[in-house]
Formats: sequence, structure tokens, C-alpha cells
Amino acid sequence: MTDTIAAAAPLTLTARIGQLFPTLTPAQIARIAAQGRRRPIRRSEVLIEAGAEVIPFFVVVEGRIEIVQPSGTTETLVAVHGPGQFSGEIQMLSGRRALARARVSEPGEVIELDRERLLALVQTDSELSEIIMRAFILRRVELIAHGFGDVVLIGSSHCAGTLRVKEFLTRNVHPYTYIDLDRDADVQGLLDRFHVSAADVPVLICRGDVVLRNPTNQQIADCLGFNAAINETRIRDVVIVGAGPGGLAAAVYAASEGLDVLVIETNAPGGQAGSSSKIENYLGFPTGISGQALAGRAYTQAQKFGAQVIIAKSAKQLACDRKPYTIEVDDGQRVPARSVIIATGAEYRKPPLENLTQFEGAGVYYGATYMEAQLCVGDEVIVVGGGNSAGQAAVFLAQTAKRVHVLVRSGGLAESMSRYLVRRIEENPAIVLRTQTEITALEGDNHLERVRWRDNQTGNTEAHDIRHVFFMTGGVPNTRWLDGCVARDAKGFIKTGPDLSRDELTTAHWPLSRPPHLLETSLPGVFAVGDVRAGSIKRVASAVGEGSITIAFVHQVLQE
Ligand SMILES: Cc1cc2nc3c(=O)[nH]c(=O)nc-3n(C[C@H](O)[C@H](O)[C@H](O)COP(=O)(O)OP(=O)(O)OC[C@H]3O[C@@H](n4cnc5c(N)ncnc54)[C@H](O)[C@@H]3O)c2cc1C
Repeated sequence: MTDTIAAAAPLTLTARIGQLFPTLTPAQIARIAAQGRRRPIRRSEVLIEAGAEVIPFFVVVEGRIEIVQPSGTTETLVAVHGPGQFSGEIQMLSGRRALARARVSEPGEVIELDRERLLALVQTDSELSEIIMRAFILRRVELIAHGFGDVVLIGSSHCAGTLRVKEFLTRNVHPYTYIDLDRDADVQGLLDRFHVSAADVPVLICRGDVVLRNPTNQQIADCLGFNAAINETRIRDVVIVGAGPGGLAAAVYAASEGLDVLVIETNAPGGQAGSSSKIENYLGFPTGISGQALAGRAYTQAQKFGAQVIIAKSAKQLACDRKPYTIEVDDGQRVPARSVIIATGAEYRKPPLENLTQFEGAGVYYGATYMEAQLCVGDEVIVVGGGNSAGQAAVFLAQTAKRVHVLVRSGGLAESMSRYLVRRIEENPAIVLRTQTEITALEGDNHLERVRWRDNQTGNTEAHDIRHVFFMTGGVPNTRWLDGCVARDAKGFIKTGPDLSRDELTTAHWPLSRPPHLLETSLPGVFAVGDVRAGSIKRVASAVGEGSITIAFVHQVLQE
């Protein structure tokens, strides 16, 4: 079989080519044919146009389909599907726009299925589900690796907006081609062609012709049609706010148990876990898994069962005075829900430092993934915080940075960090632990250039020419949008189940004779899971566990 993906990376791909482009057996084809319709295909017939919102699934019975990526008047061949092979990639599950064009290169016959029938097939036929899902996931991985896609990003590594857009696309597993103003010689031609200047970066060229200058994440999601297939006005059995591990686990269980599920996510699936370089204590991954990979798998799993995820939109308010509850999102849309799961997690506490926002993305970071690490190769960096996320970041960054200074206000790490991370920090000559030390000032112009820190034991302040600081300190719950609806503790975390006192339930006008279920808030049918919940253990496994078990209570509430 010839295809350009295979030709471009023969070594990595030869082992996987059979999984990327499997040939189905006659028995498997017959099972698909029973769900779809057979039809002839003509030479040069376009079966799917790039950018199309409706993407059917094709199994080739006879003939060939080529997958090409159009760019202006030219085309790049991406793959070829022959008899027994099938078209499609992960886009088919989410209902997003097609990334490429599918055209018949040899006439013959196909079996065609629409998206709903394909979803039903992967939910009910476990053998075909494994083959199709694996091929879809691997194809997306290859598209990303080769930058095949409908997005060109022109940016600069000195620009905070570029980092934000790269993170948004990467965490949404969307392939893109990146052109760096500072490194790519032929960038001027591209700037001229799209009538943009270096001052406009980051510039995103979307679907070949739409030019977005420093776009918001929501504008990018709109242009790429991330949410185009989602009906926000339908009353859902359960609306989950937040697509971190807790929200995604709830989505997988709810959708797999037949509930109509919608997830609303401000940024991208994965939450805090998505910003982790490697999670080593989550059951079933003895060699660890990056937060991005875990999130990508969970997101695909939720979509496979039919859960829909709205990307780049935030819940702004919960209208809790009547049922069905409605969640107002930031484009003004109101999403109705018979039950609600709050899984909005927490974010790092921002220290009260002057200039902090000026340097966010330009020397100040709140996550330590491969993308941030690339910005600090060979440099000195500071990690602020004494928890596991800070420890993980320090160990990860020490692989590529010249030196990592870990700053904590306490006298040591033993009480706040897992023993395995403390040992790795102690044994790593590139990491310097500075206890009872805190940052007092950040200095620079367009980028952070200098940091001042104070040793609280001696009272001495020192200035260091360090250009990168990772703040990983404590969590603030994302609950501001819930004002007046559910009982919270003094720090804003949501109280649930047995933690709600009689007085709190009386104040909240709890209307039922039964007490709140485990994980149910002071508002009937509204649940809270994961880091946002008062008293929760701030771990991936506990967020996933809570998200999963809450669905049992959702079923009970829906029957009340
Ligand atoms: C760098 C790092 C490393 C970590 N490493 C580990 C580890 O190795 N092992 C471990 O067990 N734990 C680890 N943790 C902790 C773990 O990631 C969290 O406990 C877990 O992610 C909590 O999951 P959650 O779903 O409750 O919330 P979160 O992961 O915080 O997800 C909440 C989601 O809700 C979204 N959201 C917030 N507000 C809104 C709104 N108004 N509308 C819509 N969406 C909203 C956010 O964008 C986010 O995606 C780490 C955390 C970090 C930051």
C-alpha cells in the first residue's frame, strides 16, 4: 500500500502500518454492511470535502479512495485506502469538520455509514470497535506528527500568545503546522500572501483561507468547528461542567450507561492533569503516562460512548431557582440540565506579585509540559511550590534545564511531597532546594529577565538573572460561577453529602425528606466531584473515582 504518511516515517510506521490501515475480514465487512448501504463509486468522485461538517464512514469493497490535503491549488497525498480498508479518523467521533478530502482514485464499490451508525457500531461490536478506534487514534497521532491538518500557526517563541495557541491546539489534539518568525527563512512570503505582519502574531490560518490575528481560544474553536455539531439547547440528563479527570470519568460512565450527556469545558480536556509531564501513580500505568496522553484517551473514550464536549466555553452562572437547571455559558447560551455535575477543579493560587500577569506565558508558567520545557532548554529555572506537581515539574525540567531552583516557604518537602519525588530531587545534582525562600519581585520588559528572592531565615534578598518561573502553589477552587447556589466552605470548595450540616441544609432550603447523596451538594440533583469538592483528595485517581460513582446517584435523582 502506498501512502505518504508511511513514506515519511518508515521506521516508526512499518510496525504499526497494519493497525493504522487495517484490512477487514469478509466477516467484519459483512457486519458493517448490515448497518450501512452499499453504493458504487466513480473515478474522481469527491466522497468527503475538506472542511465538510458531515463526514460519512466508508469501507472500500472494490476500488481505491485517496485522502488528500488541499492547500490553495495544490494537494498533498496523505493516505490511500484499498479493498477491505476504511476511511476516517478521530474527527468522525466528535462530529467536527473533515481535515482532508477523500476522493475516488479507482472506481468500484463502498459501504457507507453515517456518524450515528458508526457510533452505534463501535459501542456494540467490540471486535470492530477495537480495530476502528485504534486506527482512528493512530491516524490522529500521525497527522499531528506530520503537521497534516487545517491550521497553520505563525508565531514566535518570545510571544505569550503563541504559547497559549500552541497549548490550546495541542491539548485539544488538533494537528497544525507551526512556522516560527524567528527561525523559518521563508516566512515573509506567507505573511505577504495573507496580508499580515510580524506585529500580528500569533496568526492562525484556519482551513486555508481564514486569517485570525491573535485569536481567542473561543475564536479558534469556532473557526475549526469544534462545537458545530453540538445542540446546546436540548435538555440533557446530565450536564458536566469541567473536562478534567473527574468530569471525563463522569462523562464516560454516564454516556456508556445510556444517559444524554453534555460536558462544558473552558479550555481543553484534561484539566490540571493535562498539564502534568508524567503521572506515575495512576493505577494501570507502571511506567507512567503523560497527562496529555491520559486526557486524550479519556476524551476519545467519552466520545465513543456518545458524550458531547463543548470546548472553549465557560459556565458563567448556574440558574438554580427552578428545574430543569440551566447553565449560562459565556456566549450567552443557556444549557438546560436535569442534573448537573460540577467538576471544575482548582487552579494554582497566583502570588501577589506586581508584574505577574505581564510575564504570564513570557517567563511565568503554571504548567510544565514538553512545550514549556522547550522554552527553557539550557537555562536556569525556578519552580515555586512544595507539592507533588512542583516536584514532578522540577524533576522533568531538570532533564533539559541547566539548573532548577525549587523554592518553598516551609522548612522542607517531607510533609507536602511524595517520598519518591523528594528522593529524586535530593539525588539530582541539577536541582537546588531553597527552603524558607520566596520570590519578592519579577523584572523585565517583554519577557521576564530577573527574579528577586528573599531567604526568610536570614532576611537577605538576592537578584538572579533567571528568565523562567513555574508557579505551582496550592489550589483555588473554580466556584465563583456558583454564587448563591450551593453551600461552600471558607475557602470556596463545595460541600457534599455527609459533610453538609443540618444548618447548612436549612439555610439552603433543602426540600427533600431524604438527606443529600454522597457527592450531592446542598442543591438536589447537583453533584460535585474531584478537586473542587471540599475535603477531596487532590489526585487523579480520586477525581476519576468520584466522577465514576456519582453517575449511580444521577440515575437515582433522575427517577425521583
Ligand atoms: C502539574 C500537575 C501534576 C500533577 N500530577 C499528579 C500526579 O502525578 N498524580 C496525581 O494523582 N495527581 C496529580 N496532580 C493532581 C491532579 O491533576 C488533580 O487532582 C486532578 O486533575 C483533579 O481533577 P478534576 O477533574 O477534579 O479537576 P481539574 O483537573 O482541575 O479539571 C477541571 C476542569 O474544569 C475546567 N473548568 C474550570 N472552570 C470552568 C468553568 N467555569 N466552565 C467550564 N469549565 C471549567 C478547567 O478548565 C479544567 O479543565 C497533578 C496536578 C498538576 C497541576
